[in-house]
Parts: sequence; C-alpha cells; structure tokens
Amino acid sequence: MLKKLDYNYHTHTKRCNHAVGEDEEYILNAINNGIKKLGFSEHIPLVREDGTESKYRLPINECQDYFDSIKSLREKYLNQIDIIIGFEMEYYEEYFDVMLKTAKENGAEYLILGQHFYSAEHKNGKHSLYKTTETKEELAIYVDVIIKAMKTGVFTYVAHPDIINFTGKNSDYVSEMTRICQTSKELNIPLELNLLGIRENRIYPNNLFWKIAGKIGAPVVVGCDAHSANDVYEVNCIFKAFKLIKKYKLNYIKTPNIIKINK
Ligand SMILES: [Zn+2]
Ligand SMILES: [Zn+2]
Repeated sequence: MLKKLDYNYHTHTKRCNHAVGEDEEYILNAINNGIKKLGFSEHIPLVREDGTESKYRLPINECQDYFDSIKSLREKYLNQIDIIIGFEMEYYEEYFDVMLKTAKENGAEYLILGQHFYSAEHKNGKHSLYKTTETKEELAIYVDVIIKAMKTGVFTYVAHPDIINFTGKNSDYVSEMTRICQTSKELNIPLELNLLGIRENRIYPNNLFWKIAGKIGAPVVVGCDAHSANDVYEVNCIFKAFKLIKKYKLNYIKTPNIIKINK
C-alpha cells in the first residue's frame, strides 16, 4: 500500500542552472498531490576568494529574486500549503562561516546538508563524491566531514548521506557508515532517503547503508530533491522509498523538525 508523503523539504529552482520550470509550477504540483509542507532548498551560493562562483548553484546576484519569488508565492497560496525557504549547503570548513552568513543575511529559514564534494569546489572540479572512492581512508574523510557538519547544529537533516560511490571493502563501508548513523541517532538529525537517486537510478539509495541505518535506528526522512515540477511528487519513486523503509525497518519519522538558523 502506498503511504502518502505530505511534506518535501528538498526542492530546487531553475536558478541553479541544472533545474527547470517556474517556481509556481513546483508549488502547484505539490498542492495537487496533497503536499502540506514544501521547503525550497536551492544550492546555496558560493563565491570563491577570486570572485568566481561555482556553476551549479544559485548565483549570488539571484539570491534576492529567489527569496522574493518564493515569498510572494507563499502569500498567494497561504491557505493551501506551508512553504519555507532555505538552502541546501555543503560543509566546507574554510567556507562554513561565509556560507552561513549568506544564509542568515538572506533570511534562510532552514538548511539541509547536501555534501557533493569532500572539500570546497575549486575550478578543476576535483574531489567530487560522484567519482569512485576505494580506500577506507578516503571514506573516513567523507564520514568525518558529515559528522562535523551535523555537530554544527544548523542542519535540519542530512540529504543523501549515501551519495559516496565507494568501491572498496564492504566491511570498511559498514564500520565507517555506522559512525554517520550513530551520530544521526545521538544528535537526532535525520538521514534522507533521496528520491533523485531512485528517479535516476543512481548508486544511492545504497542498500547496505540503509541496512545499517535500520539496525541502529537512526531517524529517517524522505526528500524529493526536485529539479523539475514533476519531481515534487512521483508516485513510483515514493513507492520504492517506502519499500526500503519497510525492508530495512527504518525509523521513519515523517516530517522533520525544522532547525532554525536565525536564533
Ligand atoms: Zn541540484
Ligand atoms: Zn538537492
């Protein structure tokens, strides 16, 4: 039986250069499918020291437009849906303060952690987590970054914690990923089953990861990671996610608690 998903806190907009459609289309599709709480989590701007920007994010000069547009739509559909506006953000030690400042200054209402690189993106695109990782040492670097990020206390949840394409030993994967799941449980920061991974047949959701999460009882939520209006609610992907929740007896907490960043 298909369980209904009535929230989604992982939504992008066309401004990040790899999503399509108008903001309003995302909202209308959410309303039409019974979503009650919709969070926009555009890829947060990142301006490097030399003034250049990473290409797959919201450009800093479109920040205002992002907030203005979603806020006016929030007013328009006030009686039909609760909308919050925030960012998806990586944890890069050297940029953490400046990225958090960008979020706060623009009035972001929440952040989700979406780590796509080990360390800050430089122009050569090194250290992408989509590339394969083989050694336990490299995997441990990833795990340490995620744990440090969780401990900052600003992230509402961890998007696609299983994004890393690890091709080494299963025993290493289990011991390292156990650390993420345990920290998630201890700090009560949910881990996200990511529907984009399901939609595009990516290497995540990683079965072994969710098996560990299930054993440990880490809190789990679902995120659509919408890059088009249709992605906001896809029955097939949702069905598959709930199959995983059942299969691994995941501690599915439904709607995550929003952690406010402007305290
Ligand atoms: Zn994206
Ligand atoms: Zn995302």
